[in-house]
Amino acid sequence: MPLLARMLTAPLTVQVRRGAVADLGALLSDSRVATSGRIAVAVGAGQGDQIAKIIEPTLCDAKVFHVPDGSVDAAVSLGADLRKGAYEAVVGIGGGKTIDVTKYAASLAGIPMVAVATNLSHDGICSPVSSLEHEGGKGSFGVTMPLAILVDLDFVHKAPPKLVRAGVGDVISNLSAIEDWQLGNAEHGEPIDGLAVSMARTAAEAVVNREDSVESDAFLTVLAESLILSGMAMVVAGSSRPSSGGDHEILHAVDQLFPGTSNHGELAGIGTAFCFFLREDEARLGQVVECLRRHNLPVTPQDVGLSAEQFTEAVLLAPSTRPGRYTILEHLGLSESEIRDRVERYVDAVAG
Ligand SMILES: [Zn+2]
Repeated sequence: MPLLARMLTAPLTVQVRRGAVADLGALLSDSRVATSGRIAVAVGAGQGDQIAKIIEPTLCDAKVFHVPDGSVDAAVSLGADLRKGAYEAVVGIGGGKTIDVTKYAASLAGIPMVAVATNLSHDGICSPVSSLEHEGGKGSFGVTMPLAILVDLDFVHKAPPKLVRAGVGDVISNLSAIEDWQLGNAEHGEPIDGLAVSMARTAAEAVVNREDSVESDAFLTVLAESLILSGMAMVVAGSSRPSSGGDHEILHAVDQLFPGTSNHGELAGIGTAFCFFLREDEARLGQVVECLRRHNLPVTPQDVGLSAEQFTEAVLLAPSTRPGRYTILEHLGLSESEIRDRVERYVDAVAG
């Protein structure tokens, strides 16, 4: 009987627990990661320095690089340093920005990357995409996914809670992104990948109804695993389709028009709720809004300091941020005045 199956690219190691960082040395001495021990470490501004000190005794020869920001320039410069130093692997330690920069730099240098996440702000911790800032705003760049991923809950507990909670918004946006994908399939025959859908949906469903929040180890473990599963869903799909629909188009438009409004996950959460409002799916809208509120995440444009006019402008621009991606926004094709009307009705619907 023929054995028919597909091979999936996946990290060699996934660890989500307290004390994971202390075992980094053992992981890196694994010959599948590095044989000679020429390791580079990239740290961010947050807890990176502190972690670099903790792992120093086990990584005495490692060269530490500081990642100044989340820009393409920072990634290109780190990539050049990695190539020059002929490192075998790079460890990116920090939040979303540092990991995104290191992923892109590792891809440029053609070496594997180990991700050590210190917060859970978005699903980029284990995805094949880097989101980086450039002169024209923010862009998504395809990269190789990390070879190993460690999430150390001791450090996640010390990260700013606002950034950790943001991961909830990003993971539940899968629910909206999947609806958009199915819409593209129904309306335009766009191929849909059932395995990627299963992984992305399971990740979101595991988080959306939980009663606990970021103070709890049990919650953080599920959130971290869900973000990793979302990243894997993108690898399976070969694109960000299972985790990025109209919800993300809106967030990219807000980033473009009003940079610095809020972080990725918070905007993804608002975009998700608004897209379910546009779909007139009251059950999902209620569930998503309740989830966002439970984690103190913003729900309305006003919650992140945007007026109804500004949010309308963003929704109008949203489809152009992702040409070719069919979502509820392209499907409805609303005019500016229609969007304005929906935005006002959305704010009323979720009030209180
Ligand atoms: Zn996202």
